[in-house]
Order: sequence, then C-alpha cells, then structure tokens
Amino acid sequence: MRILVVEDEKKVARFIQQGLEEEHYTVDASHDGIEGLTMAETGSYDVIILDVMLPGKDGFEITRELRSERITTPILMLTAKIATEDKVAGLDSGADDYLTKPFAFAELLARVRSLLRRGTQEKTTHLTAADLELDTVTHRAHRGGKAIELTAKEYALLEFLLRNKDRVLSRTIIAEHIWDYHFDTGTNLIDVYINHLRNKVDTGFELKLIHTVRGVGYVLKEG
Ligand code: CA
Repeated sequence: MRILVVEDEKKVARFIQQGLEEEHYTVDASHDGIEGLTMAETGSYDVIILDVMLPGKDGFEITRELRSERITTPILMLTAKIATEDKVAGLDSGADDYLTKPFAFAELLARVRSLLRRGTQEKTTHLTAADLELDTVTHRAHRGGKAIELTAKEYALLEFLLRNKDRVLSRTIIAEHIWDYHFDTGTNLIDVYINHLRNKVDTGFELKLIHTVRGVGYVLKEG
C-alpha cells in the first residue's frame, strides 16, 4: 500500500509520514501543490492525504484536476478551517473524506484504513457465484475446482456478468460494454457468445448460473 502525503507544513508532513511508516505503509511526501499534483497524476498511490492550503496549487484545485483526469485514487483532505463551507467545497471537488486540523494520529489512521478498504472493494480481483470462481488478475476461471478455458471476449462477458450478479443485463448494455459499439438489434452476436459461455460454465452442472430473461436479456445468478 502506497500513500502520498501533500502537506507544506514540514513538521505535520513528517509526523504523518513517520506514523504511517510505522504501520508499514510506503509513504511519499511533497511540500508543494504543483509537485504533489504531478506525483498524484502517476496514479501509483492507494490513498492521497492532501492539505488544502498549499503553495503552487491548493488542495481543491489538485482534487478537481485529478478527478477531471479520471484519477480516482481516494483523497483524504486535511483542513485547518472548521467552516462547513470548506468541508462542502472539499467533498464537492471530489475528495472522499476530510479531517480537521489538529487531529490525533489514530483518527487519521482510521480514515486512511477506511479509504483503503473502499478502494480494494472496488478493485476486487476475485469474483464468485456458487462454485464458479474468476480471478480478474490472471483471467483464470474455475468451476467446481476445474479450470475453464475462455477466449478474451468470453472472459470479458463472464466478468461483466459476475460483476453484475443478480442484475438483468439487456443485450444493448452487454454489447456496449463488451464490444464497445452501438448495437444492431438484428445481430445475434450476444446470444452466440452467451451460448458459448454457457457450454463452458453450465454444461455438466446441475445448478445453472447463466439465465435468459425472455425479451430482456441475461442474468447470472445462483438459482
Ligand atoms: Ca498548509
């Protein structure tokens, strides 16, 4: 877990950095808004702790720029001001949480842990339904402990169905997500792929996972 601290008060930055390193996090620190933004833009951090008042660029500007670049790293904003407008401005700019200075380290640590948990939930790498398992890092699928060989498109389709478990997905939604094109309702491409996937995932198993919802689309569910 890698954390970026952008804070111009060097004593505060050092206090946060040391505390987090004692908790075995890897920490980089910057004392300047422009440098901090450049570091954050690498997207290589799991959490960013960001002061509001900074030389170069303030915390609100940095957050807005990161979000407009689609960098979604969780941001914990540190504010010296207790004014509600500042908290609202911080959260509006795209920060995930805020902490008012002065704060106890235990409080900061609790907020950081909560943001890290949120981040890993979104990026979960192990999807399951009954005895079907899909690893989104290795792209390996197993059912009942047996490996399933999938083509790239079949994998993408299965991952999409699993991420939306119990949710009915229309052919249009599936086409746009997997093939990234506007759907021609005349084609049965989706049905063909679903059938391929069904043969690999459900054939030979009593419990069927991929279901057709007549006139609507498909759903992956456990029963
Ligand atoms: Ca400051």
